[in-house]
Amino acid sequence: MSKALKTYSLSHDKGEALNGLMVAYNTTLNTMLQSIWRTTEWKKHQIKGKKQHRLYPKYRKDNAFKRELRNKCLEEWCYAAHWVDSAIKTAFSILASWKRNYDRGERRRVCPCSGRLFLRIKQTLLKLEEDTLRITLRPREFVYIDLSRRYFKLPDNVSSVGLGEPVITPDRIHLPIHVAEEEEEERTAEAVAWDSNMLSMDGYSPKTGWVKIDTRKLVSAHVSSFEKRRSIERKASKSKRTKRVLTKYRRREMNRAKKHQIEIARAIRVLSKRSGFEALRKEKMYTRSRMWNRRLARTDWRGIKRRVAESGVVEELSPQFTSKKCSRCGWVNKDLRRGAVFECGNCGLRIDRQLNAAINLYLRMEGVPHEKERWDADILPTLLVGGYVLTGAERKGTDELVRFLDDAVKPQIYVGYDRYADTYLPVPT
Ligand SMILES: [Zn+2]
Repeated sequence: MSKALKTYSLSHDKGEALNGLMVAYNTTLNTMLQSIWRTTEWKKHQIKGKKQHRLYPKYRKDNAFKRELRNKCLEEWCYAAHWVDSAIKTAFSILASWKRNYDRGERRRVCPCSGRLFLRIKQTLLKLEEDTLRITLRPREFVYIDLSRRYFKLPDNVSSVGLGEPVITPDRIHLPIHVAEEEEEERTAEAVAWDSNMLSMDGYSPKTGWVKIDTRKLVSAHVSSFEKRRSIERKASKSKRTKRVLTKYRRREMNRAKKHQIEIARAIRVLSKRSGFEALRKEKMYTRSRMWNRRLARTDWRGIKRRVAESGVVEELSPQFTSKKCSRCGWVNKDLRRGAVFECGNCGLRIDRQLNAAINLYLRMEGVPHEKERWDADILPTLLVGGYVLTGAERKGTDELVRFLDDAVKPQIYVGYDRYADTYLPVPT
């Protein structure tokens, strides 16, 4: 049976217990990167259509070299040897990712260095024991990560089969989980309505539940370029050279933003066959506030929508009262204040503001009227996993749930930029 991989992330409190290993792993990883870098051959290639040349790396990857690398690192290694194997694998994937960026002209020819503390946990170093993940530090010495407060399903079998290689940082663990393809297809064969926000795209359908695509990286691609260009504009005169540099930054910004737009659109297409978006006219949303206008310009909503439409079905939805209406009973909050939570003055629903908007758009897309009973019967169960709210807390009663939905329900699918893979995860490919 073919399977897709999804990555879920949870916080944990074992940062201190893992700190020594993380520091040692990081040091070893950087030593390896430098060792590989030193033995790399550089080949000269002409850039297509230009007279310039560029050097391309050819890393040594043969087994003899890897064995040598491994033995050298093991000399001063006091943890399980499998961690060194994991570091070798990670070093090569960092270099592969560096090369991709270098090929695009986004990196200089400097050995990449891993600055963040993390561990990639090999299968041989972990064991799933019901709600606990056991990680081997040294033979017969373990650290246990509590997974009971998860919001997703773990693989059925107790062994580590079904679980990919997790990545753990000082405060979070990212778990790649194999999901059966059939289940996956069923999830995707649906219409999803997407609410466009400043830092995320929030989708809802009964099949997927609440999906949050984190778009902060796209925004920051615009922000960092904006800061750079502004500092140049301030300092320099309007010379030809300044103009050239500014054009260069502008182009780089567009390329980076484009990459994120493509990836975000891909995530949307994978999750929904039919995608509903608000027919937003950005030009009508500009106000006198320069900060607001700037933030609005950085969202690239239209670019994303256009890319989804290239190979998917896009429906335009009326944006009227999307965030002001209670998705449960249809009450309209006329003087909606800023805040993460939508509170209904009629039925008492407290719900995440962006989830509320996404549900409203979904109902509009499917032409379903707002009705409390229907919401409780059809929508509420899709936000829960088997009678449990998604944080893992037990559901006590319908009334309580409706009141606490704002802090209890989390996105079922969270898609974000993953710097290890240099793509948006989890998106089944
Ligand atoms: Zn209501």
